[in-house]
Amino acid sequence: MVILAIAVPVPLRKTFYYTHTKPLALGVRVEVVFASRALVGVVVDCMDLLADIALEQHGEPSKFKPIGTVLDDVPIFSQSWLSLLHWLANYYQHPIGEVIQTALPNALRKAQSSQPIPISTIALVPSLAALNIQGNDITQTVPFINLKRAQRQFALACYVAAKTQDEDVDGVAKDEIKQHFSTSLINNLIRKEVLIESHQYLRSGCWHDQKGVEHFANISGLPANVEQSIAITGICAQLNQFGCFLIEGITGSGKTEVYLQVINKVLQQRQQVLILVPEIGLTPQTVSRFESRFGIQVGVLHSGLTDKERLTVWHQARLNHIGIVIGTRSAIFTPLPELGMIIIDEEHDDSFKQQDGLRYHARDLAIMLAQKQGIPIVLGTATPVLETLHRAMTGKFQHFKLEQRAGDAAVAPVHLIDICQQPLQFGLAPATLDVMQTHLSQGNQVLLFINRRGYAPAVVCSSCGHVEDCVACDKPMTYHKAQSRMVCHQCLAHVIAPHQCGACGATDLITQGIGTEQLEQGLGELFPQYSTIRIDSDSMRGKHTLSNTIEAINQRQHQILLGTQILAKGHHFSHVTCVVIMDVDGALFSADFRAPEKLAQLITQISGRAGRADKPGETFLQTTQPGHPLLQDLVNNGYGHFARFALHEREQATLPPFTYQVVLRAEDEIPQRAIQLLEFARHLLTNMKNISTLGPMPCLIEKKQTRHRYMLIIQSPYRDLRQKVLDAIIDDYAHYANKSRIRWSIDVDNIDFN
Ligand SMILES: [Zn+2]
Ligand SMILES: [Zn+2]
Repeated sequence: MVILAIAVPVPLRKTFYYTHTKPLALGVRVEVVFASRALVGVVVDCMDLLADIALEQHGEPSKFKPIGTVLDDVPIFSQSWLSLLHWLANYYQHPIGEVIQTALPNALRKAQSSQPIPISTIALVPSLAALNIQGNDITQTVPFINLKRAQRQFALACYVAAKTQDEDVDGVAKDEIKQHFSTSLINNLIRKEVLIESHQYLRSGCWHDQKGVEHFANISGLPANVEQSIAITGICAQLNQFGCFLIEGITGSGKTEVYLQVINKVLQQRQQVLILVPEIGLTPQTVSRFESRFGIQVGVLHSGLTDKERLTVWHQARLNHIGIVIGTRSAIFTPLPELGMIIIDEEHDDSFKQQDGLRYHARDLAIMLAQKQGIPIVLGTATPVLETLHRAMTGKFQHFKLEQRAGDAAVAPVHLIDICQQPLQFGLAPATLDVMQTHLSQGNQVLLFINRRGYAPAVVCSSCGHVEDCVACDKPMTYHKAQSRMVCHQCLAHVIAPHQCGACGATDLITQGIGTEQLEQGLGELFPQYSTIRIDSDSMRGKHTLSNTIEAINQRQHQILLGTQILAKGHHFSHVTCVVIMDVDGALFSADFRAPEKLAQLITQISGRAGRADKPGETFLQTTQPGHPLLQDLVNNGYGHFARFALHEREQATLPPFTYQVVLRAEDEIPQRAIQLLEFARHLLTNMKNISTLGPMPCLIEKKQTRHRYMLIIQSPYRDLRQKVLDAIIDDYAHYANKSRIRWSIDVDNIDFN
């Protein structure tokens, strides 16, 4: 008999002991009973019961329950992944059982087999398939002619014939066909011996066996300019060893071409590549760019997949059936046995940091993974975060700059428009309307950025001044006119838009401020001859809406594009020559020291979406603070200069990356209770050398869903010391916090104070 240490998905910072009749490999999933619930845990340690140490440490073996079913023959996690997960749990001070659960694909969090699921495919029967592949008109064959009276059956047979011929495949996934035709229709044609069904396990064999080494050696990229060549040569000279590379490349400077050329070298070595991208940047165009260059299937992981689809990619990656995986944050957990390189595109993007549960940063985890595996990691962006830039400037990362745009396109100049005491129409100043008119009448497109969805951010009573607040958050609710609703953008609660003031009953309610919905309406009035398209999360619901809209924009079906954050990421609009950013002032006076950095990134990213070689763009910022040093620096010298100056300021103020922060948050309906908990932490940390605390104080989002939110900022100039101190206090703190039943969290290397 052996004792197993099992990581169980519960919020407790330890593993639990169970017994089993024989040793199990570490990383295998097992069913266990925990507090009379059946849970799926993972074996993290296995010891011989007879060993003295085991007995001494864990007491009588009779105390431990036996495990239930063993779910895997082969461990889900390799040894190196298990140790990485232990590192994650330690570094982010998160319970190991929950860390391991985060790393599992959803489908494997349940007691489900980890054997690959057979994929059901439908094909034409062999005799018809042969004719079809030879390019004969299959509809003229007897079986098809016989079907012509049954329209749907005929359509289905034609669908399968066309699919297998166009894509040169043996069959079509049944799930895919079921999106268009019913199961009974499919079964009918199987009975009539027109179609056959087969169950396939994943394609066997490695991805590179199908292509051979010459295939990749013969792929030639676009001609690289001098800067690109330096980066490509530099990275390729250091494959098969750990190294971090930052590619600081202005938009349009050809970062992706650098990625593609170094990826090709890695594929030639028969190694796999993992590419992480921001959620919004993962479009079908991105994926097809990789697929068409390399002629191999690319595994894609994003939040829109079903558990089954996600698991399939997980299997394909793990069995080395695919060479490239592109995905968003959690794709970092994909098992890639032959991993040879990691690329993080748009490394500045906040979506790489998980903001609940295990608050890990995928970039930082990727760096640890690369180090463990002894492989290179490439970070690319036009606007590196100051933490990354600092590491590059101090030599921890190798730094490549791409400052030339392809085809010598000029970088869009940025201009400020002073909106002080200007008569605004729908938030737009006369000067802004003039430049828009100029660009539009030249047949170009204009892009307006406004960071507020809905019609208006507040509804106010003009009799008594009462503002319609969210009762749970104490914040004004946003008026969404199209749905006649008031929505709280913090907690998403909504009510029917009122006709009367909630305080005095008066009916003269007015809206305050401008949101996308109102601006869209306004632009229709101001520029009736041009078509305006609104792009925000309200208007872009549905799977293909966004990519269809972008397509329509590039075909110039719309002249004015208006939208939120979605516009800032990834998409390029070559007919846009004028970018207007409506309101930049909020970030200039934020309590978050990162707000100016984020604003500068946003402005640079949005400006970069516009123009091309023969049609340079320009960007206009509306502000009441045209003299503000940050804006002046950004406008005159660009992000690179701004960021280096901002780093200098951070150093003066001893802020990250020159110090290491942790934020403890506590939320409760009674503010005093949250404060008390944080006071307890502060007390544990008093008189510790080189550790300072700030707070307890309200978070930037002070109240959400009836809970008052407070934080304690802990910082130290030494990362190791911070770790040691957290290790020392976390058990006491967690114990106290769990006992008091207050909602709390710990956020190591936080990126905001919300
Ligand atoms: Zn009123
Ligand atoms: Zn709310």
